[in-house]
Amino acid sequence: MDASAAPILVWFRRDLRVGDNPALAAAASSGRPIVPVFILDDETPGLRAPGGASRWWLHGALAALAADLDAAGSRLILRRGAADRVLDELIAETGATAVHWNRLYDAGGISRDTEIKSSLKDRGIAAESFNGSLLFEPWEIETKAGSWFKVYTRFWQACRAAGDPPPPIDTPRAMPAPGAWPECDDLEAWALLPQAPDWAAGFRDHWTPGAAGASARLKHFLSDSVESYADDRDFPATPATSGLSPHLAWGDIGPRQVWQTAMAEAPAGAGRETFLKELVWREFAHHVTFHQPDMATQPMDAKFRDFPWEPDDDLMAAWQQGRTGYPMVDAGMRELWATGTMHNRVRMVVASFLVKHLLQPWQAGEAWFWDTLVDADPASNPFNWQWVAGCGADAAPYFRIFNPTLQADKFDADGAYLRRWVPELTEGGYPDPIVDHKIARERALAAFKSLKRE
Ligand SMILES: Cc1cc2nc3c(=O)[nH]c(=O)nc-3n(C[C@H](O)[C@H](O)[C@H](O)COP(=O)(O)OP(=O)(O)OC[C@H]3O[C@@H](n4cnc5c(N)ncnc54)[C@H](O)[C@@H]3O)c2cc1C
Repeated sequence: MDASAAPILVWFRRDLRVGDNPALAAAASSGRPIVPVFILDDETPGLRAPGGASRWWLHGALAALAADLDAAGSRLILRRGAADRVLDELIAETGATAVHWNRLYDAGGISRDTEIKSSLKDRGIAAESFNGSLLFEPWEIETKAGSWFKVYTRFWQACRAAGDPPPPIDTPRAMPAPGAWPECDDLEAWALLPQAPDWAAGFRDHWTPGAAGASARLKHFLSDSVESYADDRDFPATPATSGLSPHLAWGDIGPRQVWQTAMAEAPAGAGRETFLKELVWREFAHHVTFHQPDMATQPMDAKFRDFPWEPDDDLMAAWQQGRTGYPMVDAGMRELWATGTMHNRVRMVVASFLVKHLLQPWQAGEAWFWDTLVDADPASNPFNWQWVAGCGADAAPYFRIFNPTLQADKFDADGAYLRRWVPELTEGGYPDPIVDHKIARERALAAFKSLKRE
C-alpha cells in the first residue's frame, strides 16, 4: 500500500468525543483513511481497570461515540485485550502505518503507553500522542525554580499567569474510511452493564453519557446555575453544580471546551471564577499525580505510612451500605450507590468519617469510590482521598475532624437531603451511631499524635 494512503489508527481512551480531539483532528488533517478504535484493556499489568459504575458509564459513552462517528461516515472499532497485542493485530489487518492517541497521566497508563510507543517506533510505525484531557500539560506549569506545585493557590496563580488555555480544536470535516473495515466486537457482549441485579436503574434517570449529554449539562449549568455557584455549591440538596465530572473523567467533553464555553457564555463574576477554580482543582490533581506516580497507594506525606489504621470488615460494610447511624454519612453513601455520584461536600464528610472516626485506611475508601463512582478518575480520586486523610498535597490537616452532625446542620439545615436518602429518620427504624463522635475524635487525635512522636 502507498504509505501516504495507509490508514491511521486513532486509539480512543479517556477522550470519547469527536470534537476537540487533538489525536483525531491530527489524523484527519492528513487526509489519510482513519480507523477509530477503542480497546477494553483489562489485561495489561499495572493498568487500573475501570470499576463497576465506570463500566456502566463507558458502555453509554462508547455507544454515543460510535453513533457520532457513524454520522460522520466513520465507525468505532471495538476490541478487547492487552492494548499492545490488539494494536499489533489491527496494524496487520488494516495496513496502518501510524497510531494516534491522547495522553493519560496516571502511572499505569503512562507506563503501558510508553512501552507501546517505543515498540511501534522500533518497527517503523509512527506513534503520536497529544493532550486531549487537560487545560495544560502537567509539565507546562512549573514553579520559578522549575519544580512542580504542591500548593493549590500557587498552582492556580501559575495557570492564570500562563494565559487562557489553548482553544478547543474543531471537529474534523471529513474522516475518510479505510478500504475495508476490520472486525468489531459487539458492545453488548462486553457486558459492561450490570445484569442481575441491575443496580444501575437510578443511574439511567440521572445521566446521559456521551458528548451530547455533556453539552446539554454544560448549557443548563451556564444558563441556570453558574451565577449562584459560589454561594450554593456546598449545599447537597441544591442542584447548583455542573454534574460534568463523569463526562470529564471519560472525556465525553474536554476541559478546554468547558473553559472556553464558560468564558464565552457565563457573565464574569464570583460564580464563573469559582467554577473555573474547580476545573483547575482537577488539573492540580493530574499535575500532582503525574509527579507523584504512586498516589493511589502511598501517602504523599511519608509519616502516614506508619499510621495505626484499624482495618475492620464490619465497619467498612456499615460505611459502604450507609448504616453508620450518622445521617449525613449514610445519606451520602446511599446517594452514591443509587446514582453513581455524591455531592462534593458530602464526599468530604463520608471520607473524613471513614478515615478519622472509623480509622479505616484511606486506600480502602478510595477503592470503594473507584468501584462505585461514575466519575472515578485515576488522578482525582486518590488525590482527594489523600487530601481528606491529611497526607496529600495541600491537604486538610488530619487534626481538623468534621463533626458529621454539625456538617448536616450547616449544609442541610432544613433536612431535605437527609430526608431524601434516609427516610427512616422520619419513618422510624434508624440505627444508633456505630461510634460516639467525641470518643472517635479523641481516638483519631491520639493516633495522629503517636505518629508525630515516631
Ligand atoms: C474523597 C473524594 C473523592 C473524589 N473523587 C473524585 C473522582 O474520582 N473524580 C472526580 O472527578 N472528582 C472526584 N472528587 C471531586 C469532586 O467531589 C467532584 O469532582 C465533584 O463533586 C463533581 O461534581 P460536579 O461535576 O457537579 O462538580 P462542579 O462543582 O460542577 O465542578 C466542576 C468540575 O471541576 C472538577 N472538580 C471539582 N472539584 C474537584 C476536586 N475536589 N478535585 C478534582 N476535580 C474537581 C470536576 O471535574 C468537576 O466536574 C472527589 C472528592 C472527594 C472529597
